[in-house]
Amino acid sequence: MSTDKNLVFSQHNIFSQIKNSDDYYLINLLTGSADIVDQDNAGKIKKGQYPDKEDLRLKGYLIDPHDEKLLFINSYLEFTEKRDSSEVQVFFVPWYSCNFACSYCYQSEYNGEPKLLTKEIIDAFYHYLDTMMRGQKKYITLFGGEPLMNGKAHREMVNYFFKQAAERNLGVAIVTNGYNLSEYIEDLRKVPVREIQVTLDGIAEVHDKRRPLQNGGPTFDKVVQGIDDALEEGFPVNLRIVMDKENIGELKAVSDFAIEKGWTEHPGFKTQIGRNYELYSCQKNSSRLFERAELYGALYDLLLEHPDILKFHKPAFSVSRYLSENGELPEPLFDSCPGAKTEWAFDYTGQIYACTATVGKKGEELGTFYPQIKLDKEQIEEWKDRDVTTIEQCRTCNVRLACGGGCAAVAKNKFGTIMAPDCRPIEKLLDLGLSFYFENENTKEEL
Ligand code: SF4
Ligand code: SF4
Repeated sequence: MSTDKNLVFSQHNIFSQIKNSDDYYLINLLTGSADIVDQDNAGKIKKGQYPDKEDLRLKGYLIDPHDEKLLFINSYLEFTEKRDSSEVQVFFVPWYSCNFACSYCYQSEYNGEPKLLTKEIIDAFYHYLDTMMRGQKKYITLFGGEPLMNGKAHREMVNYFFKQAAERNLGVAIVTNGYNLSEYIEDLRKVPVREIQVTLDGIAEVHDKRRPLQNGGPTFDKVVQGIDDALEEGFPVNLRIVMDKENIGELKAVSDFAIEKGWTEHPGFKTQIGRNYELYSCQKNSSRLFERAELYGALYDLLLEHPDILKFHKPAFSVSRYLSENGELPEPLFDSCPGAKTEWAFDYTGQIYACTATVGKKGEELGTFYPQIKLDKEQIEEWKDRDVTTIEQCRTCNVRLACGGGCAAVAKNKFGTIMAPDCRPIEKLLDLGLSFYFENENTKEEL
């Protein structure tokens, strides 16, 4: 039993001031406690003069380090157990070619191998799933390049791929630019469609400038038609906006457009804001990129000005949205990178990679499924081991259970190893998010 003497301020406490407010927040992902603290009490906490010690102890903000260690170990075991039995997302890249020439494509410097996808390679992919991933819950995501290309040979391969998935009753998600989506609806009826992710970067002019055809032609109208048709068919659509300083102003217009179209009323419609960021190849114009905190800061301002955008998209601001929607914190996040754990990526050359960020990148292969199955066990182990207990900098970081260590590919790109942190600005995100979801009168009406 812990005595008062052993109590210390938990190393998992996240304590900071809410934006545009005198109030502070105290959040502890390990014990699941979240509180708003007034200025007076926050001042006392800062000085270590804890106002209501018993309350702080009950909520785990003050804790015996030994008890905290035990709690941490137990939560970690629960986390890994859940992760090991959870569904695996298996990406498949049928080719890296694409009919678009997006201004920020991280794959634009990949030279597609002069090989073509064949039925034999598709068979080898499914053989791998049937044998090496037997008994594991899984679904497939068709990725690219652009998977829904319209050439005869492309369509034949995609249909063969779908047929194999349907025979195994495997759900299929598709990440597409949406240009040929309408033409593919009939083929998609033959598989259990899990989700179709389509990217729209703005309304016509801006979208067409950022995401033109290879020949420079416009794409907006066809993509919109594709989304309409997919939703009408009852397929879930995940609309993604890749955002940077060039198109953040479009969020209101895209939101109005989606609301007017009735998309936001569709039960299968959801949205995602992807931050445009530098991964491998140099962005043609990197000054337009947002840092993560900067993007959320800009979203905060924009949404305060136009709270109706919330009908279209509600930003997460770390765990803030979850807390506001569920009245409790999510479970501790010991690992935010699913690569080589609950995510894998295979491509048409027979290579296996950890995820979509590394797929196709020379030197990132973790094995092959064709012509033979070969796995680089050492590298795979390293990916599997990566979490906030193994990345040195994360081990003592107070926000680690909200951050999860970030993205392994970004970490490697920056530090040359995946065993390095990709820090998330958790405190800044919470400063914004708790203000946005808990303290703003004009957003409350829309929530
Ligand atoms: S390396 Fe990055 S992109 Fe790949 S699974 Fe991990 S977090 Fe996702
Ligand atoms: S990646 Fe950075 S912010 Fe995230 S847990 Fe590790 S040290 Fe903390």
